[in-house]
Amino acid sequence: MTIDAWHITGQSQIDSYVGRWAELAVLLVNELAVTQALGRPRTPPADRLAALSQAFDQHGWIPTRALTAADADRLADVAAALRPAFTGAPDATAVLNETLVRHGAVPNLHGDPPILAFHRPGSDLVDAWAADAATALAMVIGVGQGQRLRACEAGGCDLVFLDVTRNASRRFCGLSCQNRAKASAYRARRRT
Ligand SMILES: [Zn+2]
Repeated sequence: MTIDAWHITGQSQIDSYVGRWAELAVLLVNELAVTQALGRPRTPPADRLAALSQAFDQHGWIPTRALTAADADRLADVAAALRPAFTGAPDATAVLNETLVRHGAVPNLHGDPPILAFHRPGSDLVDAWAADAATALAMVIGVGQGQRLRACEAGGCDLVFLDVTRNASRRFCGLSCQNRAKASAYRARRRT
């Protein structure tokens, strides 16, 4: 994902960093921390590792290290901590700040040529992902673009997404929820 419609610093490297890690945050929240999706209740997956592996395949996300079942369980806590950033909960900022501290988020350069990352060298996969994803969300919020971190407005759907439309006008996770919401608004008008 690239964020062409807006620029944090005018540097595409930073934009693609934010887009990539915000995309992981969306994936984790949607797979591990929502209880309803597309108008149906959704029980959190019993086998989180299988659920994540399938979602990574679908989204073309290739983990740099193999994920274990224990990692997947810890990622469920990370997902729960990232979710308030999308729902506009009153404690969203505090929760995100706690997450950054807990997972040791710190800007530093990795590799050669150096690339910017926000996890400590040597941190494990879960801490690294949590630090990078939380930092990406903090960067979006910190430049006044927090309204782009959204949860679907359709009834019975808590799926979250990063709104990359030019005027930040996206309201639904996808077409099926948009159509469902339209139909229910139409029915509501007919009743009045
Ligand atoms: Zn939806």
